[in-house]
Amino acid sequence: ATHDAPAWLARLNPPQREAVLTTEGPVLMLAGAGTGKTAALTARLAWLVESRRAWPSEILCVTFTNRAAREMRERVGQLIGPAVEGMPWLGTFHAIAARMLRRHAELVGLQPNYTIIDTDDQLRLLKQLIVAEGLDDKRWPARQLAGCIDRWKNRGLGPADLDAAENEAYANGKGQKFYQLYQDRLKALNACDFGDLLLHMLNILRREREVLETYRQRFKYIMVDEYQDTNQVQYLWLRLLAQSRQNICVVGDDDQSIYSWRGAEVANILRFEKDFPGAKVIRLEQNYRSTPQILAAASGLIGENSERLGKTLWTELNGGDKVRVIGVWDGPEEARRVGEEIERLEREGASLSQVAILVRAQFQTRELEDRFIQIGLAYKIIGGFRFYERAEVRDALAYLRLIAQPSDDLAFERIYNTPKRGLGDKALERLHRYARNHGVPLMRAALEICDTDELAARARNTLLALVRDFARWRDEAGRLSPAELVRTILEESGYTAMLQAERSTEASGRLENLSELGRAMEDYETLGDFLEHVSLVMDNDAADDVEKVTIMTIHAAKGLEFDQVFLPGWEEGVFPSQRALDEGGMASLEEERRLAYVAITRARRRCTILHAANRRIYGQWTSSIPSRFIAEIPADHVDSETTLAGGASLWRAQWSERDDPFASVARAQPARTMTRGPGWQRAAAGTYDPAPKRIAEPGRSAASFAAKPRLDLRVGDRVFHEKFGTGTIAVQEGNKLEIDFDSAGRKRVIDSFVKPA
Ligand code: ATP
Ligand code: MG
Repeated sequence: ATHDAPAWLARLNPPQREAVLTTEGPVLMLAGAGTGKTAALTARLAWLVESRRAWPSEILCVTFTNRAAREMRERVGQLIGPAVEGMPWLGTFHAIAARMLRRHAELVGLQPNYTIIDTDDQLRLLKQLIVAEGLDDKRWPARQLAGCIDRWKNRGLGPADLDAAENEAYANGKGQKFYQLYQDRLKALNACDFGDLLLHMLNILRREREVLETYRQRFKYIMVDEYQDTNQVQYLWLRLLAQSRQNICVVGDDDQSIYSWRGAEVANILRFEKDFPGAKVIRLEQNYRSTPQILAAASGLIGENSERLGKTLWTELNGGDKVRVIGVWDGPEEARRVGEEIERLEREGASLSQVAILVRAQFQTRELEDRFIQIGLAYKIIGGFRFYERAEVRDALAYLRLIAQPSDDLAFERIYNTPKRGLGDKALERLHRYARNHGVPLMRAALEICDTDELAARARNTLLALVRDFARWRDEAGRLSPAELVRTILEESGYTAMLQAERSTEASGRLENLSELGRAMEDYETLGDFLEHVSLVMDNDAADDVEKVTIMTIHAAKGLEFDQVFLPGWEEGVFPSQRALDEGGMASLEEERRLAYVAITRARRRCTILHAANRRIYGQWTSSIPSRFIAEIPADHVDSETTLAGGASLWRAQWSERDDPFASVARAQPARTMTRGPGWQRAAAGTYDPAPKRIAEPGRSAASFAAKPRLDLRVGDRVFHEKFGTGTIAVQEGNKLEIDFDSAGRKRVIDSFVKPA
């Protein structure tokens, strides 16, 4: 087809344009953050349609999140107008696989209305199997088995494909057996888990020639964003589909590979040229996103990694602020500080939707949330800690799932006694036995068992009432909208009443969540549509009118950009995570560093890093030292400040004392006998010698700071402190003290650093 290039193509730079116009044959776009990879991919999608090379329905385009798919759809719409109706095959691997599997479910022994179960259900199911087989689930936890099964599925392995070593991975050689039991059980439930979506589809494409041919015919063009984070099963799946036409274009950045813990293999991007000989490799070097300061900071940091291809990045933008590093006392102060900064930005006219707080771990969000609620700052949480995972929402969903599919035993177990109906474990056990003996689902068993004397009269009546309720709701499901249906159910089941009776703030939050669920359902015409949506949305990322600050994990922020980015919790043990430190390997530390690179490169105009001297982790106060990543950012591109009086100079003094202060601290046991001042002081200083030094060798743990003997101290006690001298305890909160020192005034300290005077 010959077609004049539209004006919007001219706005791309030459390599981007090349990627767009090279429509035939394999293309690999390999480039750093913010260089316009996704922009080029979007333009390519638009161009394929605009130039009539393919209908929107003939393009398979894989994005990393549902949100990214939505944005791409909008963007393409803006470029070529309503010509782009639909695009059914634009979405995440999971969404696309689920869509395919609905059509071919029978080929893997499922019915088309199969349920997609989530992690929680998965764990419960596995635990049942473990216990039923007489294994101790404390010794062999369901979580461990779930981890193995996910790993196998990510690698495209079914139970029959496991080798001896993999089989050993669970319960001394029972891996394969339990994997098989689990798959059988899922089939019996007409269900599959997330990993199955891709594995089932892969198996279908491998075995059923005709199905494979249909899709190969259909997908004239295949495109994949964030290719560096595809796992083995996704890779195999793509390779099968793309093999005949070879019209596959993938884009990625090896420096942003951050999902190896979920089975992603950066090797996929490195072997692309081998799999698709003659692939055109396109590199982009101009960054359009960030200021030179941010870019230089990020590039310097990632330069510390050895396992990378290496690339050049430049920008035409100029000026910009250095990366700010702020040291604070503790978590609440960090949250206060972030809140203040954001309010200031707001006063200066910044749009809240252009502000993001990116955290390494989910536990970091609660303090921020508490603070933002307190000061009335609108925020939204995306990814990870999902709305649909909250207990009350899950309960409501279980009711709905049971209506859509009466054989959903997991859903039945979840709600059969929620709210409390006086049905005990014994009744459930009898019911289970009946269901097993007769080979029927629990709902059916409940109806039938009520015709017998198996259960006491009271339990029988209660159960029968429940079965009748469901029959009625199922009947009403045809007439009511999904939103009306869920409201009806929550009322009539007594669920709402149960929460109202609680009268706690927590319960009212739960009620709010449930009404929010009703609102969410208003967008769907049928219950089935809604449930499918719920199974697929990894994140509650619904568009919203109010401008809000975004809080999300760094992992979830991949591919996104914001004017202002706040990065709290840059402390050893938080980021890099304790787990990465404990594992100690170069590989896990380098992945953490890539994560840090992703975090900084989300920022367009300003990036603010925070670290706290004290952190409460799982209820325990621990002293922290700043993340090594802070020291790895080239000093020329950093502005440091601390809110801790006198701290900076102290910190610097200690830093200049030895090359590796951390090592000596780690050796000193116990912490109270340390001669060079306690760890919190060095951390409290909140800044570091401008000449970057290594904070610690990879793998050395910060945890040793946490082990400190406890003293029996009370308000009013006279105590002595190495630095501040003698004083009286004024406030005690856990192991945190506020002390009125005779000469130094009131200071906040940790109890293990004082002794009775
Ligand atoms: P990441 O690696 O973080 O996913 P990316 O390479 O996908 O980044 P994009 O998100 O596509 O980068 O683009 C980054 C920013 O640069 C966006 O705001 C985009 O609109 C802008 N941009 C991309 N290409 C151009 C261009 N040719 N001219 C001007 N701006 C551009
Ligand atoms: Mg991108």
